[in-house]
Amino acid sequence: MSQVLVFVEHQEGVPFETSLQATTLAGTLGDVSSVSVGACDVGGAARHFAIEHPILFDYAPEAIAEALVQLIGAESPSAVFASGTERGNEVMAHVAAVLDLPLATNVTEVRPVDESWELTRTRWGGSLLEEASLTGPVKLATVAPHAFEVSDASGSVDAETFEPDLPEDLERTRVVERVTISEGITLTTAPVVVSGGRGVGSPEGFGILEELAALLGGAVGCSRVVTNNGWRPHSDQVGQTGTRVAPNLYVACGISGAVQHWVGMMASKNVLAINNDPEAPMVTKADYAVIGDLHPILDAVVAEVKRRKGL
Ligand SMILES: Cc1cc2nc3c(=O)[nH]c(=O)nc-3n(C[C@H](O)[C@H](O)[C@H](O)COP(=O)(O)OP(=O)(O)OC[C@H]3O[C@@H](n4cnc5c(N)ncnc54)[C@H](O)[C@@H]3O)c2cc1C
Repeated sequence: MSQVLVFVEHQEGVPFETSLQATTLAGTLGDVSSVSVGACDVGGAARHFAIEHPILFDYAPEAIAEALVQLIGAESPSAVFASGTERGNEVMAHVAAVLDLPLATNVTEVRPVDESWELTRTRWGGSLLEEASLTGPVKLATVAPHAFEVSDASGSVDAETFEPDLPEDLERTRVVERVTISEGITLTTAPVVVSGGRGVGSPEGFGILEELAALLGGAVGCSRVVTNNGWRPHSDQVGQTGTRVAPNLYVACGISGAVQHWVGMMASKNVLAINNDPEAPMVTKADYAVIGDLHPILDAVVAEVKRRKGL
């Protein structure tokens, strides 16, 4: 089988879920070789390349892309994947530009036909599925986050160190400072997201959402109207121009469910809408809905959760 490279993003050696999802698709198309900046434990890959270079850190898109280009030259894979995250798409866009090859982003399905690939990819923030074909001696693609399950792959291989030859000017894009936005559970990792829209009415109105999120071990999200009104920071915004989330439970309080919001949370396993409009798109698309004024409803939900927790 041909070799398929997967660029894996990771935090201190722990691969991102979205990168592992990309290896699931890659595994259907060839023998997976994972590649990361520094060592990273990716179960199920036949080979693992750890890129080492003094100017490479976790965020250095042009330099990482140049390293990948050199690895592609050395290994001649049939395809290279990354996850369709901002970073994955950015790195792969540089790879495609350097190699002068086409790149298909946010792919959800690949059907090899002779020398080309027929594929399906998401566009417009996930609200549209596009059928496309991809040609080229090396197929370059990113995989739509949450379109694939992580395959149950165990067993890791020894990392093969790859030391690229990188010109110093590629260091121009790098991290100069990190600012912690929130401690503990974050929007993207929270198993429960309690999210509020215009219906919450005010910044103070989010107090009860914060209380429910804390009781459920979750995080608070919001719609763009809320951030536009200055009720919550942009880092809390869910949607096309905010954060994408995929919790076990998404509680949408006073959110109409506009497509730009929906695409940011449609990967949620369960959606509960609390809204006074039974015709709101969020209500008609949700798994569960409670119709009415969100304020007394949330008061009652919080009281019941506390009672069951013995608080
Ligand atoms: C290019 C572009 C990008 C965008 N990106 C995003 C994005 O990333 N995220 C995002 O969220 N939006 C985004 N938007 C905006 C989006 O189109 C909607 O305008 C926005 O999501 C609506 O926010 P909302 O649901 O809070 O407000 P509304 O649409 O005003 O809905 C409020 C809802 O609350 C209900 N309600 C009101 N009072 C109560 C109450 N007391 N109790 C219960 N329910 C109540 C109403 O019935 C209604 O359903 C984008 C738009 C564009 C054009």
